[in-house]
Amino acid sequence: MLDTWLLLLLVTAIGIGWYLGQRSSSLLSQQHVQSALQQQYYKGLNYLLNDQPDGALDAFIEALDVNSETLETHIAVGNLMRRKGEVERAIRIHQNLLSRPTLPREQLHQAHLELAKDFVSAGLLDRAERLLEDLIVDAPELHKTATLLLLEILQDEKEWAQAIEKAQQLLPKKSLLKAANSDPVIIRALSHYCCELAEQALDRRDYHSARKELKKSLNYDKNCVRASLLLARAEYETGHYEHAVKSLHKIRHQNLSYVSESINLLKLCSEKLNDPQSFQRYLSMCLDLYPSVSIVLALAAEIQNSEGDEAAAKFMGGELKRRPSLRGLDKLVALHMANSQGKAKENLAILQALISKLIHSKPQYRCQHCGFSGKQLHWLCPSCKQWGEVAPIRGAEGD
Ligand SMILES: [Zn+2]
Repeated sequence: MLDTWLLLLLVTAIGIGWYLGQRSSSLLSQQHVQSALQQQYYKGLNYLLNDQPDGALDAFIEALDVNSETLETHIAVGNLMRRKGEVERAIRIHQNLLSRPTLPREQLHQAHLELAKDFVSAGLLDRAERLLEDLIVDAPELHKTATLLLLEILQDEKEWAQAIEKAQQLLPKKSLLKAANSDPVIIRALSHYCCELAEQALDRRDYHSARKELKKSLNYDKNCVRASLLLARAEYETGHYEHAVKSLHKIRHQNLSYVSESINLLKLCSEKLNDPQSFQRYLSMCLDLYPSVSIVLALAAEIQNSEGDEAAAKFMGGELKRRPSLRGLDKLVALHMANSQGKAKENLAILQALISKLIHSKPQYRCQHCGFSGKQLHWLCPSCKQWGEVAPIRGAEGD
């Protein structure tokens, strides 16, 4: 539909150009140009009539002269080609524009940017990077746009240190560390870039570097849950269990919906510290603040350990009446199964298999920015490439 519309626009544009040219041309050279234009026009029409829109598009593009007035049309056609996946053709159209030095500087920059996007789509990241680096220096009007696109490439390449350097250029000069009055998207990205470096350091057991990066991350964004989780991991792995608990407890102030992500490590810390009571008290407090199935299940497990199956089943039953959930029901059935026999146990096993199937068919996390959902917590949304937008799903089928 869009193709047809675009072709009609091109046909009309060239037709008008040809008609006006015929009326005004008097010199021989102009007649020659008009004749070439006429040929291209008919060639394009012929393709169109033979239902060959691609050939028609090429012919019309060749016929439509590049100047300030037609530049937007050329760029639109190139972008359409890119969106259709015809990247080579998009590159050809945008490169054709760059070979016209007579165009105003800003229009050339625009074509330059579109060509960089074509290279990204074609997977030619090195070439895109070079174009964007040039634009960042030469085109102040496109500085932010080009830097953001470059950041996407550096993220794909996992070049975190370079990404930090480039993103910092988008911050106001005087607030590199405090990050006040800065674009929250940039601040969040910077915070996660530091987390990525910290994670690499943790993987090679370089706890000093990891702590340094996590401190920077929290300086950029004091509400970065990921930084608190990683800091807790660093403290736990170095035997500082109380510090790990302190870092995990911070999460309820940063973002309550991520408390569920801290439960496993908190449980391990409570075992190392031999302090299940504090763990249970903390879970109860969080449950009062934020109803979460993960918290209910963790509490049920603690009650089961300290008071037995019956007390845990009673607790689960009460919670399920207040907030029905699949995962809660699964736990309740498991508790009853442990104390059942014969036919009743068989029936409960069938019910549990059904619930388990249902749970596994449901996503656990969703991006609040684009709606992407999945079973894993991605700090960088694979779909919209936003940082820190994927969160546990709430409700009967989620957390
Ligand atoms: Zn998303």
